[in-house]
Amino acid sequence: MPGYEVIGAEERQQIMEVLATGVLFRYEFADQRQGVYKVREFEQAFADYTGAAHAQAVTSGTAALKVALRALGVGPGDEVITQGFTFVATWEAILEVGAIPVFAEIDQTLTMDPDDLSRKITDKTACIVPVHMLGAAADIEKIVAIAGQAGIPVLEDSAQAAGCRIGGQHVGTFGACGTFSFDPVKTLTTGEGGMIITNDKGLWQDMSEYHDHGHDHAPNPGGRGGEGRRFIGDNYRMMELQGAIGLAQLAKLDDMVATQRAHKTRLKEALAALPGVSFRHQPDEAGDSATFLAFSLGEEKHRVRVAEVLRDQGAPAICFADNTWHFYPRWEHLLAGSTKAARGWPFAEPGGRRRVVYAPDALPKSVELMKRTLVYPIQLRMSEERLQQMEQAIGKAASL
Ligand SMILES: *Cc1c(COP(=O)(O)O)cnc(C)c1O
Repeated sequence: MPGYEVIGAEERQQIMEVLATGVLFRYEFADQRQGVYKVREFEQAFADYTGAAHAQAVTSGTAALKVALRALGVGPGDEVITQGFTFVATWEAILEVGAIPVFAEIDQTLTMDPDDLSRKITDKTACIVPVHMLGAAADIEKIVAIAGQAGIPVLEDSAQAAGCRIGGQHVGTFGACGTFSFDPVKTLTTGEGGMIITNDKGLWQDMSEYHDHGHDHAPNPGGRGGEGRRFIGDNYRMMELQGAIGLAQLAKLDDMVATQRAHKTRLKEALAALPGVSFRHQPDEAGDSATFLAFSLGEEKHRVRVAEVLRDQGAPAICFADNTWHFYPRWEHLLAGSTKAARGWPFAEPGGRRRVVYAPDALPKSVELMKRTLVYPIQLRMSEERLQQMEQAIGKAASL
C-alpha cells in the first residue's frame, strides 16, 4: 500500500538540500534559498506526471478538498453530491465550506453510482465529488458526462488513487479538478500533504490565492507585504520539507504501483477459486493503482464465513460495512448532527432550524453491497512466504 515502506536515501537527500539552505517556507527568502524551491518543483513534477496543466500543493487531502470547493465558489445554500463510501474528510470539507453533502449510492465500481447521481441532482447542486476509492477509478467519464449536461463541475477526490489511470489518462484530470492526499497511509506520502490538479488556469489562480490568505503572488517592489488580494483566504501552505519528500516519493510512484499490481494479481488469482466471488468493476483494469483488492461474495452469510476462515488462517480482510471511518451508516456523529458549535452549525441554522437530517437507512444498495464485500490492503513489502500463506488461507476459504 503505502510509500512509508520505501522511505530511504532519496528522501534523506532531498530533505538535506532544504536544511542546507535553512529556508522552510515555500515563498520569499530569495537571497538565502540558493534557488531551492522544493514545493514549487514538486507541483511542477506532479503536474507533469499526471498530465495536468497546473498543480497546487496544500497541507493535506482534506485541505485540498476545501481549497478546491472554495475556488469553485461552493458555499452556504449549495448542495454537493458525493458517495456514502468514502473517508469522512470528503463530507467534512463540504460541510466546512458551508454546503450540504448529499450522498449517492455506490455500485459495482465501489464508487459513485451514475444512475443514483442523476436522481440526486437538484437546482442547488453546485459540485459533484466522486471518490476514486481504494486506488481504483470511478466510472468517471459517465459521471463527467452527466455533470456536464447539468452544467455542474466535477471535483475528483483522488486522495487514494495517485498513479491510477484510465486509458493512460490520470484520475483527477477528467473533471474540473482533482485532489490528492499524501497522508501517512497513502501510496505517495509526505507525512501530511495534498495536491490539487486542474487544466483551468483561472481555477488554479484562485486556489493559489485562496490557500495563502489571498496573496496574489505577483512580483512587486514591496515583496510579499505589497502583494494584492482579490478575496479573503486561509492558510493551507505546504512547507519545503514536504515538497522535498514528495519529489523523492513521486519518483518512486510508478515502481510502487507496479509492485502492488504484481502482488494484487497473485492474490486475485487465488481468490478466483471462491465460489460465487466477483471483483469490483473497473473502467480500466490496466490502470489500477492496486493499493487494495476488493472482492464480493454472493450473500452476506457467505462473506461472514469466508472472513472468519481468512482471519483464523492469519490472512484477515477488511469489511468496510463494519468500518466506522469510511461508510455512511457508521458515521454516527454525522447522522446525529454532532458538532462543537453551540448553535448547531453546520447541521442547524443559527436560529436553531435544522438544515439537514441524515437517515441511517438512506443508502440500501450500498449497504447490501458492502455487507458482501471484503478488502485486502496491498503492501509493497510482501515476502514470497507471506503471499503463499495468504494463498493457502484463501484456498481454505474456497473449500468451505
Ligand atoms: C485520506 C483521504 C482524504 C483526506 O486526506 P488527508 O491528507 O488525510 O487530509 C480525503 N478523501 C479520501 C477518500 C481519503 O482517503
